[in-house]
Amino acid sequence: MGKTNVDMICDVAELSSLFEKSSSLDDFLQSTVSIVAWHMKAAVCSIYIYDDASRLLTLRATQGLSTDAIGSVQLRIGEGIAGLALKELRSICAGCASNTPSFKPIEGIGEEDYEAFLAVPIRRQLTRVGVLVVQDSKADYFDSADEKALRAIASQLASVVENADLLMALHRSEAAIEPMTAPDVKVIKGRPASGGVAKGTASFMFSGRDGTFQVPESAPSDLTLADFNHALETSKQQLKDLQREADKDLSDVAQLIFNAHLLILADEEFAGAIRRKIESGSSPAGALVDVVNHYIKIFSASPNPRLQEKEHDMKDLGHRLLENLIGSGRAPGDYSGQIILADSLLPSDVLKLATEKAEGFVVQGGMTSHIAIICRSLQKPMVMVDPQQFVMFRESSELLIDGSQGTVYIQPSEEVLKEYKEHQQATAEIEAAASVKEKTFTADGTRIHLFANINLLSDLKLAKQFRAEGVGLYRSEFPFIIRNAFPSEEEQYPVYCRIVEAMKGREVTFRTLDIGGDKMLAYQSEIEEANPFLGLRGIRFLLRNKDIFVEQLCAMLRAGVGGNTRIMFPLISSVDEFLEARDIVKECMKYMDERGVAYNRDTKLGVMIELPSAVTLVEDLAHEVDFMSIGTNDLIQYTLAVDRTNETVSKLYLSHHPAILRAIERVASVATNHHVDISICGDIVRDSKMIPFLLGAGITKFSAAPRQMPNIQAAVEAISIEKAVYTARQMLAFSQIAEVEAFLKNS
Ligand code: PEP
Ligand code: MG
Repeated sequence: MGKTNVDMICDVAELSSLFEKSSSLDDFLQSTVSIVAWHMKAAVCSIYIYDDASRLLTLRATQGLSTDAIGSVQLRIGEGIAGLALKELRSICAGCASNTPSFKPIEGIGEEDYEAFLAVPIRRQLTRVGVLVVQDSKADYFDSADEKALRAIASQLASVVENADLLMALHRSEAAIEPMTAPDVKVIKGRPASGGVAKGTASFMFSGRDGTFQVPESAPSDLTLADFNHALETSKQQLKDLQREADKDLSDVAQLIFNAHLLILADEEFAGAIRRKIESGSSPAGALVDVVNHYIKIFSASPNPRLQEKEHDMKDLGHRLLENLIGSGRAPGDYSGQIILADSLLPSDVLKLATEKAEGFVVQGGMTSHIAIICRSLQKPMVMVDPQQFVMFRESSELLIDGSQGTVYIQPSEEVLKEYKEHQQATAEIEAAASVKEKTFTADGTRIHLFANINLLSDLKLAKQFRAEGVGLYRSEFPFIIRNAFPSEEEQYPVYCRIVEAMKGREVTFRTLDIGGDKMLAYQSEIEEANPFLGLRGIRFLLRNKDIFVEQLCAMLRAGVGGNTRIMFPLISSVDEFLEARDIVKECMKYMDERGVAYNRDTKLGVMIELPSAVTLVEDLAHEVDFMSIGTNDLIQYTLAVDRTNETVSKLYLSHHPAILRAIERVASVATNHHVDISICGDIVRDSKMIPFLLGAGITKFSAAPRQMPNIQAAVEAISIEKAVYTARQMLAFSQIAEVEAFLKNS
C-alpha cells in the first residue's frame, strides 16, 4: 500500500514542535491532518474535537473534505461512526462505511465517495478529547496496522490538543504580540468531590503558582518601622477574630487552626529580624519579604514533613502581613468571591479558607478524600482535576464550578451563568421543600429507619433539618486529622457530648478512630507504608496504640451519660480483634468505676463489616457483637481489590458487583437470624436504584449523609417489601456484572 506508518508515528511524535510554527490550535490541527493523510496515503483525514458541556463533536480540521465544513459539521456523542467511536472509546474500522448501521453521511462535504472509514478516539485516560478519522475511496483500504498507527497518533494528540490552547496563549504572551489572554479552553471536566455550585475569581493558593513571595511593584516607598509594627498588630487581631469565628461553628476541628500563624507573629526572632533589617536601611516591605523567604527556605528544605507544611503557613502569613503593610486594598484573608486553586491542600487549609469565606475549591488530584469530606460538611463545592488540566487556569479569571458534576467553567458565558442561577434556585427550593417525613415506611407499611452519617459537628444542623432518627456513624477522625497532635480525652469529650446533646436521647453510634489508608495524620507521617490501605489502619492502629484508644473510649463512654450511645470499631478482620477491643472497653469501665467517673454502662459495642474476612466470619461475629454496620465503601474496595481513591480503576469499583450483592445479603440475613441490629452506612445508598435490593436483602436501617435522606425516603416509599424481596432474589441470581447492569437499567 506504500503507507509509511512508522515514519508517520515519528513525525507525529514531534507534534509539539509544530506549535512553534502554528499560529493557532486550528492551524496546528490542520498541519496534523495533512501529515497523517500524506503518510497513510488516505484521501481524507479529519480531526473532530469534543466539547463535554454540549456533548458535541465539531470538525476542526480536514484534508480531503470540503473546508467549508470546518467548524460547522457537528455530531452528537454516539452519532455516526466517529461519534460511536468516541462514545464507546474504541477504534472502529469499517471496510465499507455505507453498509455500517452507525454510518451517518453528512451532505455537502464530499463524503459520499469514501467507503473505507477508520475512526480512533482521542482520549486521555477517561477524558474524551475528540476523534481522529481517515477515509478512502477504496473499500477495505485500512488494516489493523493502520489502526494501530492511528491509535498511537491519537494518544500523542490527546495531551497535545488538551494543552494546545494553553501553549498557544503562552507563545503569544512570550512573543508579546498581544497581552496574555486566558486560554481558549472554556470547560474543564474534572472529578466531583463536593457538590454545589460556586462562582468566583480564580485565586491560586498563596498567590503565585511558582510560590515566590516578592515585594509588589505597588508597594509605597515611604513606609516606616511604625507602619510595620502596625501591620503586625493588625494581623494579630485579624487572626484572633478569625479563630473566634471558626470556634463558633467548627469547634470540634477548628481549635487552634490559626495558632501557627499567631505563634510566628508572637515570635520575637521573626519580628525582631524584620525590625533590625528596617533599622539598618531596608524598606519595610523588602525586609518583610526577605525574612519570610528565609523562613520559607528553611521549612521547605526540612526533611520533616511537619516542618515542610509550615512553608504554607509562612507564605500565607507573609501575604497577610504584606497586605496589611502596603494596604493593597484587598482585605487580607478574605476570600469571599474567590475560588481557591491549589495543587495540594491540608484539611486545616480547607477549614481556614472556608472560615475566610472562600467560595469553592479546585484541587489537583491526589489523596484528597478527607478534604473532600470536609468540603461536603462545610457545603463548599470542590472539583478535583489532573495536573494537565490544572495548568489551564489563570489567576483572576472568572470561574464557575459545579462540584456535583466535577465541571469548571472558565470565563462562563452569560447563558451558563443564567442556567446555573436557575439551577441553584431550583435546588434551594427543592431542598427547602424537601420536608422529609419524620418516619419512613415502605409502600406496604414496613418501618424503615434513616440515620445520619456525621463527619463534623456542623453536620448536626443538617441531620436535624433532614430529620435523621439518630447518628448511625460518627466518623471521629476529623478532630484528629486537623490538629497537630492527638487530641486528649478532655479535648474529645466535649465534642462527643455535643453530638449526644443534639440527638436528645436518640441513638448515636460513635466510630472509633479510623485513620490510615487515605486518612493519614500529619503527625504520624513517620509511618511510611507502601500500601497504607493494607497497613496500620482502623482498629489495627488503635490496638497498637492502646493509650490513644483508651483516651478515646473513655471520652465516648463518658459522653454517653444520659444518652443512647454505641461504640463501633472500624476495619475489623477477625473475632479476635473485636474481643481484644471489647476487653479494652471493659478495662476503661473498670478504671472509671474505681475513680467514680460517670459513664454510660449500657453502651452497645459493634463492628463495621467492611472486610471480606468479616463477611466470612459474620456468623461468629454475630455471637459476640451487639450490632453490625456494613461499610460498603471499604467492602467494595477490599472485596474487589479496587483502590477507592484510584481514578484509573474507578470503573471497576462497583456497588452492584454480584460479589458485593451476595456479601450484603449474607451479612443481613445472618444478623437478622441472630437478632443482631444491622445497618448499612456506606455510599451505596446514594444510588436510589440500589435501595430495593437493600430492602429486599433485609436492611431496614440506613445511615447516610443527611442530604441523601430525601432520595432514600422516596425510594423506600416507592416499593413494597414483597416487591423488594423479589427484586433482591432476582439480582442475587446473576453471576455477571452485565446481567445486574441490564436489570438495573430496566428497573
Ligand atoms: C465505609 O467504608 O463504607 C464507611 C462508611 O466508612 P469510611 O467511608 O469512613 O471508610
Ligand atoms: Mg470504611
